[in-house]
Amino acid sequence: MDHGHAAASSDFSLIVPYLVFIILATPVLVWLLDRHSLRRDAAIAQESETPDESGRHRYDLLGIPWVHRLLKTRGFQFAFQLPSALVFLLVIVAGIWGTQLGDKNFATVVTWLIWWAVIIFTFLFLSRTWCMLCPLVSIAEWMQRGKLWGVGKRFFSLNRKWPRVLRNFWVPTGFFIILTWMYLFLGLASSPLYTALVTIGLFIVPAIVVSLIFQRRTFCRYVCPIGGIIGAYSMTAPLELRNRSDEVCRSCKQKSCYRGSENGYGCPMFELPQTMETNTYCTMCTECIKTCPNDNIALNVRPFLSDLWKTKKLGFDVAAIVVILLGVTVFQTLSMVEPWNDASNALMEATGLGENTVLTLSYLVLAVFAPMLIFSLWSVTSRRLGGKEVSLKSVFIGFSFAFLPIALSSHLAHNLVHFFEEGTAIVPVLSDPLGRGWDLFGTANIIAEPLLHTETLRLVQMTLIAIGYLGAVYVGWRVARQTFGDRLRSVIGLSPMLVLMIAFAALNLWLLNLPMGMRE
Ligand code: SF4
Ligand code: SF4
Repeated sequence: MDHGHAAASSDFSLIVPYLVFIILATPVLVWLLDRHSLRRDAAIAQESETPDESGRHRYDLLGIPWVHRLLKTRGFQFAFQLPSALVFLLVIVAGIWGTQLGDKNFATVVTWLIWWAVIIFTFLFLSRTWCMLCPLVSIAEWMQRGKLWGVGKRFFSLNRKWPRVLRNFWVPTGFFIILTWMYLFLGLASSPLYTALVTIGLFIVPAIVVSLIFQRRTFCRYVCPIGGIIGAYSMTAPLELRNRSDEVCRSCKQKSCYRGSENGYGCPMFELPQTMETNTYCTMCTECIKTCPNDNIALNVRPFLSDLWKTKKLGFDVAAIVVILLGVTVFQTLSMVEPWNDASNALMEATGLGENTVLTLSYLVLAVFAPMLIFSLWSVTSRRLGGKEVSLKSVFIGFSFAFLPIALSSHLAHNLVHFFEEGTAIVPVLSDPLGRGWDLFGTANIIAEPLLHTETLRLVQMTLIAIGYLGAVYVGWRVARQTFGDRLRSVIGLSPMLVLMIAFAALNLWLLNLPMGMRE
């Protein structure tokens, strides 16, 4: 499958205005944010405003009676799980028994051009809602519970606890690196068979095995190869599930949200809504809405990016996946452009190494180790400038989340090409999912035009990068104030991070305007 025709030839004339805007907007934005925090500090000093912002700018969707009734219905989750499970069953059937032409097979077209592109948008708007209906773990969950939607007391699992040392994002991060490597270098996106085998081998079988041995959704929390990136990206969403009142939770003895009740299961993700500060682990499964005897759960609409400076409870493992995501998203675009082919050919000639070795080493160095090293050095510099009494760990973790909007916008920009330019391949494939010459809905011979013109698409991509950058500066300022306290020290401590943010934004803009190479 040919990935990307967004740029038939390089056109740098577009980069300049975007870059100038980014550079000029930076001091203006920081100045505005500083003014805002001055006013806020003054308001707090006069006790006219509370520093606790957790309840501000929130609208509880569960206050709408029909939404409340709907989410309390037991079959709600199953109604979404079933169709998605059927779609992925067809992905596996088509991948194994269908044609092996990537752009003619349902497995590759649905998985890489539709699902993988759209799913990133669901994290941005709907938090981890994808995990609620995820077919990859649904089968395992149904087997573990022995129920499709009802509440049972008996679990078909050894119910073991996941080892303490692995209760973090390191395993998902490792699997994510492997999955991306397979995507890039095994031609996953153009191989229906590999797509089906990876779906079975990296997701469905491990999910079933883990669920039959360990408690609840251990797989989603501690193993799933995309669980780490979903957890990180979901923190940007304008949707959150939280408790309504801490006081009610404190006096609640049952803790049915965690333990479960006759109305539903205890939180599959081992979360207690009372202590949840970010969206990182909540899969929006709605079980706690059903089980809480005090109706103390809220499903809030809130401003975008709200979690990104509430990261005190998160560890180095979540911060690391954000930094690696920065590298992986840049590398994904880099590996598709023409100059990359020339550079890797030159590297092969110079070192005498084979193509796969050069590509694998470049991937590990550029997407994983270099971002970690660069970000560590920048954190050291920021701490030196902002205040040495602050721990390096808190600087690294805090600022890593400020880069999440850049990683997300770069990821979205990359995937827009797949969706808008190549995604229309779904039209004929729907009528002939296995490439066997069928015409189920009369669309098999339709050659659909791309949904967006190349030039328009490029503008959308670059605008996304600029928006992501502005979001990063905003979060960076909040993190700096929280980390360094004093206004002047915050500006000084933030400044090296701003330079790095501009560099990443500029790099993304540049890559989007390079001519595409022909890969896969
Ligand atoms: S069951 Fe409800 S009230 Fe009790 S701790 Fe959980 S969310 Fe709070
Ligand atoms: S906190 Fe509630 S909605 Fe979120 S995963 Fe746990 S039970 Fe599901």
